[in-house]
Amino acid sequence: MRLIMLGAPGAGKGTQAAKVAEAYGIPHISTGDIFRANIKGGTALGKKAKEFMDAGKLVPDELVCDLVADRIAREDCQKGYVLDGFPRTIPQAEALEKAAADLGTRIDYAVDIEVPDDAIVERMSGRRACLKCGATYHVLYNPPKEEGICDVCGSELVQRADDKPETVKTRLSVYHEQTQPLIDFYQGKGVLATVDGTLPMEEVFAAIRDRLGE
Ligand code: ADP
Ligand code: AMP
Repeated sequence: MRLIMLGAPGAGKGTQAAKVAEAYGIPHISTGDIFRANIKGGTALGKKAKEFMDAGKLVPDELVCDLVADRIAREDCQKGYVLDGFPRTIPQAEALEKAAADLGTRIDYAVDIEVPDDAIVERMSGRRACLKCGATYHVLYNPPKEEGICDVCGSELVQRADDKPETVKTRLSVYHEQTQPLIDFYQGKGVLATVDGTLPMEEVFAAIRDRLGE
């Protein structure tokens, strides 16, 4: 099964993509995690991406499209994958259509997690992230077992630099301008599955499973 997660920043794409990946035995590919790992590792890609990410803007399409095309061509993606944070623009969605078609495949589902803007800022201020394994927590809604420590890999949890309220506002307007049009794009392809992202995490996941029906 090949699916993408749509939704505003903080809607719960990463949280739900991790659950989908585990339940269906497919890799979870987060372009945000790939960029953060590159920033941490001091690579040329990380250096280029950082200035855009810190400002709450999108990294240019040319830095992300080939990277994803190469990633989904790898052996572990043969039975499917869940993309989290990609595509975010119409040119990225078109590039993904082509990359999937070149592999003789197609995107089966675009899951749109709907959360109104006013709920997003509160979610982002409580988000804590593990930069080592990509796990995501929330101080109130999904706290780690031990404060500040990742349950999965034991690393220290951090507040992301781009989760500051001012940056979150920029990211939300970038989302409405550049990413929201993808909802119509995937509706037109007949693969859109919309879920209410304001529900508790397990209920959102149950709704996603229901829509995927596999
Ligand atoms: P995204 O990947 O879309 O940016 P995340 O999955 O990182 O979003 O979720 C953003 C924050 O909201 C995290 O702190 C996460 O723990 C929390 N969160 C995710 N889903 C829910 C939910 N259904 N209810 C409450 N908090 C949630
Ligand atoms: P995320 O972890 O998905 O919230 O992404 C964090 C940041 O990484 C975004 O605000 C962008 O700056 C950048 N980013 C991640 N994925 C993409 C993408 N597909 N296109 C452009 N920028 C991206």
